[in-house]
Amino acid sequence: MTLSDLQTRVRSCVRCDALVRCRTQPVPGAGAVPAAVMFVGIAPGRHGGDRTGLPFSGDRSGKLLHEMIAQARLSRVFITNLVRCNPRDELGRNRDPDAGEIANCRDHLRMELAIARPRVIACLGHIAWHELAGRGRPFTPKRPTTIQMNGAVLFPLYHPAYVNRGAYSIRRYRRDFRRLARMVVNNGVSHRSSSFSLVAEGGH
Ligand code: URA
Repeated sequence: MTLSDLQTRVRSCVRCDALVRCRTQPVPGAGAVPAAVMFVGIAPGRHGGDRTGLPFSGDRSGKLLHEMIAQARLSRVFITNLVRCNPRDELGRNRDPDAGEIANCRDHLRMELAIARPRVIACLGHIAWHELAGRGRPFTPKRPTTIQMNGAVLFPLYHPAYVNRGAYSIRRYRRDFRRLARMVVNNGVSHRSSSFSLVAEGGH
């Protein structure tokens, strides 16, 4: 399957009743294939991807993520989310996706990983980290512990929204992206797998 086939499949997904009702459109992962680095966020925001159709675009989180990518001179980047539709609460505000919604979207992530075959998977925030690394793995972006998964390296980073609300300094965030860039270079010669079993499927 090509990336374009997968994007078409994601755009017609109707697995989650609640998300089909509140989304404007599904937002498939997008970027370089094969990828050196894949960023995994939570779900498209209502002011961003839900409007534009592209993950991490059109809102403050997307702006900061793209600035950090450019400053760290990362290339061959693929960007996606755990869930591809914008989850809203009854008042129309962004909410975190629930476990069922994340599970329903897992096939899409698995296929994106198999197509993009990134060397490094940067998990943006604890939700993405725990989903991919496993619930028992502490989320420590300040002193990142990396984990191997199917020949790729999982790397923890704070979510850009956390930095945008002042909970973490931009200066440190820049340093974390420089570390990530070094990790991408060091993991250049890889034994990448073409099929991905997600750690979280083991159930913990
Ligand atoms: N935009 C995204 O695409 N994902 C997030 O997690 C937040 C904003």
